[in-house]
Amino acid sequence: MSPAAEAVTDALRELHTRFAGLRDGRLADYIPQLARTEPDAFGLALISMDGHRYSAGDAGTPFTMQSVSKPFVYALALSVLGLDEVCRWVSAEPSGEAYNAISLEPDTGRPDNAMVNAGAIITTALIPDTPDTPRFERILDCLSRFAGRRLDVDEQVYASEAATGDRNRALAYLIRSTGPLPVDPVAAVETYFRQCAVRVTALDLAAMAATLANGGVNPLTGDAVVPEPVAAQVLAVMATCGMYDASGEWLLRVGLPAKSGVSGGLIAAGPARFGLATYSPRLDPGGTSVRGRAALGALSERLGLHLMHNPALAASTVTLVATAGDLPAAGAAPQDRALRERVGVVAAQGAIDFTAAERVLYALDESRTRSAGPVVLDLGQVTGVDRVARAMLRGGLGRIAADGARTAVADPARRLALPGPGQRDAPTVPRSFVTREQAVAWCTGGPAG
Ligand code: GLU
Repeated sequence: MSPAAEAVTDALRELHTRFAGLRDGRLADYIPQLARTEPDAFGLALISMDGHRYSAGDAGTPFTMQSVSKPFVYALALSVLGLDEVCRWVSAEPSGEAYNAISLEPDTGRPDNAMVNAGAIITTALIPDTPDTPRFERILDCLSRFAGRRLDVDEQVYASEAATGDRNRALAYLIRSTGPLPVDPVAAVETYFRQCAVRVTALDLAAMAATLANGGVNPLTGDAVVPEPVAAQVLAVMATCGMYDASGEWLLRVGLPAKSGVSGGLIAAGPARFGLATYSPRLDPGGTSVRGRAALGALSERLGLHLMHNPALAASTVTLVATAGDLPAAGAAPQDRALRERVGVVAAQGAIDFTAAERVLYALDESRTRSAGPVVLDLGQVTGVDRVARAMLRGGLGRIAADGARTAVADPARRLALPGPGQRDAPTVPRSFVTREQAVAWCTGGPAG
């Protein structure tokens, strides 16, 4: 690794050193095999949206996912069935109760959310089970794609939970008794135990969290594991329900969607920023890793990761508001100068989303205050235009054109021309040129480029 990027590793190493001495908490022992875990194991991992991997301590030590599997199987269910269908069977409200609480909504019998056991058992039951592709195979395949490598099952942990998991079986029977579920939660609970016993490392979990943060695309493999809206839905439920009855306090203090598991794994995701994971098996009374909670809390504070922090505005979107007359024009004839004076020019940079598009549209109007003439939008330094911004920019330019003024874009990457979902009715694509000067020349009545 390059020495500069070692600074990120150093931040993780410092956390490791700072919290390694924290020996509070107890191993989960209601699954007997988990009580045999090395209690002092401690690993941290972070993966960026570019797929850069950073880790400290025991980030390569295998352990079972337990409840950290829940958001990913929920993602699979959402991908297969859609949000509305999944919500018919599992609600999305924080339960304010422990992970294994026997709590079903009084009127519908739905579990509160997919992060508590009752909801997770139903989520697992909703995954299709066909002779070609049995339910568990679908789940393992999906979890593996999130991790970016083929995962396997810790058969000893599975057998241990299967032998002792009567509370979860009781939950499944209770669910079956309350409602017209189209699938059998009692059969699915054994699959749920297997999914909980899937073996990962902290680095795997960081990749899985990073995939959710990256709109469902694994940043290590480029694999589009789930659609972008599904990734956002899962992060939303993790934010409100991922830490069980401590979810509100976690969102307040740490401010990141997260999910813990009783084997000691903990993930957190910074949307569009990173995936984080820790592994340390000593748990607090709520079933969350003591060191993991402390380390992620400190990291969030130190690196300013809280979701609700008012982010400093990214580098300004609009880099130029002028008329073409203000700009150097090699070879322009003197008689062109008056024409150029009338052409408003706006240049933008970076990634254009709703917020940035609003600034660009405002600047387009500003550029026209002097002459209400033609307008050129220069997107040469723009790195991306999302679906919403594309429709806004096309719409804004379309309105200027409807006023009778020529409009053109310098759009060498043809970002405004890209069709997008739901874009069929969007206003027409503005006249597009490779360079700003070509666009200005066309707006001053010169030949089209
Ligand atoms: N397999 C565990 C159970 O269902 C997972 C619980 C957890 O990790 O919170 O009890």
